[in-house]
Amino acid sequence: MEKHVIEKIEKIVGKENVLKSYEERKCYSFDARAQGAIPDLVVFPLSSFHVSEVLRIANEYKFPVVPRGQGSGVTGGAVPTSGGVVMVFTKMNRIKEIDKENLIAIVEPGVITYDLQEEVKKYGLFYPPDPASHRYSTIGGNVAECAGGPNSLKYGVTRDYVLGLEVVLPTGEIMRTGVRTMKGVVGYDLTRLFVGSEGTLCVITEITLKLIPLPESKATILAFFREVEDAAVCVSKIIAERIVPAVMEFMDKASIICIERANPIGVPENTGALLLIEVDGDRASVRSQVEKIVSVLKEKGVSEFRVTYDPIEAENLWLARRTLSQATYNLNPIKIAEDVVVPRSKIPVLIRKLEELSGRLGIPILSFGHAGDGNFHVSIMIKDEPQDFKKAEEAVREIFRETLRLKGTISGEHGIGILKADYIDMELSQEALSVMAKIKKLFDPNNILNPGKIFPKHILSG
Ligand SMILES: Cc1cc2nc3c(=O)[nH]c(=O)nc-3n(C[C@H](O)[C@H](O)[C@H](O)COP(=O)(O)OP(=O)(O)OC[C@H]3O[C@@H](n4cnc5c(N)ncnc54)[C@H](O)[C@@H]3O)c2cc1C
Repeated sequence: MEKHVIEKIEKIVGKENVLKSYEERKCYSFDARAQGAIPDLVVFPLSSFHVSEVLRIANEYKFPVVPRGQGSGVTGGAVPTSGGVVMVFTKMNRIKEIDKENLIAIVEPGVITYDLQEEVKKYGLFYPPDPASHRYSTIGGNVAECAGGPNSLKYGVTRDYVLGLEVVLPTGEIMRTGVRTMKGVVGYDLTRLFVGSEGTLCVITEITLKLIPLPESKATILAFFREVEDAAVCVSKIIAERIVPAVMEFMDKASIICIERANPIGVPENTGALLLIEVDGDRASVRSQVEKIVSVLKEKGVSEFRVTYDPIEAENLWLARRTLSQATYNLNPIKIAEDVVVPRSKIPVLIRKLEELSGRLGIPILSFGHAGDGNFHVSIMIKDEPQDFKKAEEAVREIFRETLRLKGTISGEHGIGILKADYIDMELSQEALSVMAKIKKLFDPNNILNPGKIFPKHILSG
């Protein structure tokens, strides 16, 4: 990037909000999973005006701009593909308003999700979307990815809490979408279009979020099963009993072995699957939900279970789930992670397929995640060797093929970014992709904003 362009940007945002050295820029060339190109400049805007002015310069000089929260994404959404500016939102991190009467919060995109959750708790309110990364990911990143988490089963995903946005379009115009009321149907629903657009259609500079009352109490149940099928049947049966737990997390045998090696939690021998279930609500309803769930577990072949109403003990029951992602690296140094979703009734079919693939290819494939909504984090653990990468590529294609055959989807939460762009046409038709490419061109005629993401190369150039 030419010196005079850098100076123009520094003049807008202030020199103290720009990083120029090679070492500093390099830190913004990767996210939690993908390595990208090193940006020419890293910019920390403080306002939508800053964002707008930088985007206008980017259109004039034709360089890419990549929005970034905390870089915890796992599909390469926040990494540059060819230099340009990485625009980091960690300094736009104010909770601007918590409106207790109307149950809304207005925040800047750089607010850490957990910080908002803790803040609204002080008012007896609840912001449910809880990606496992909630202690460090930003609300802006959550909105751009439409993040979900264990709570999604009962409470929905980020999309369900976004009432309105302030955005800056790739050409620099500042625009508002949506409402700050519970209802609103005026014009096209641009808010929904922007949620999950992975920083390719707009830069999000303010978010109006819906809040709900904080449930009075919770109970946590950890249940062990010999067979995957028994765990899967319990998931469906609990919901058929008209109980919707806040959380229903699953772990397969490979994940359990992994946890027992890293942080033993005393899993009974011959356990083939476990479920971590959480119910919430008023005290009486929590007790009655627990009773019903326990009777389903007993009826459907649970081998052992633990129940607690105590939040500190609950943390112990959560330990296995919280430490699993890290523990997987004890198996092999590289993780290829997918987050497929299948209808609940098809969970055992998918799990058996993964076991078969793992045996056939000779690489560990673990699966854990949000059983209640059929969303599985499939972790293919490989060594840094060419034949392992080849096997992983074969595994990914087969897993996606099977997921789609079971009428599922290839991503429930993590988005497409760069890592899944080559697979998107396995799920979406050419017609759908072509409409999406037209939308991208309409908003971003110069392909300035986060280029190289979501679409396979031939789609945008064609
Ligand atoms: C250990 C671990 C566990 C995880 N668990 C979950 C989980 O349970 N559920 C889940 O959904 N995800 C999960 N993730 C993935 C990740 O944390 C989420 O995608 C999160 O929403 C990313 O937030 P971020 O602030 O780090 O965004 P980044 O990674 O910085 O960016 C993500 C995307 O958002 C865009 N973006 C960021 N800010 C803006 C903005 N202001 N305007 C426009 N676009 C923007 C970027 O361009 C990029 O495309 C996990 C990640 C890790 C490492």
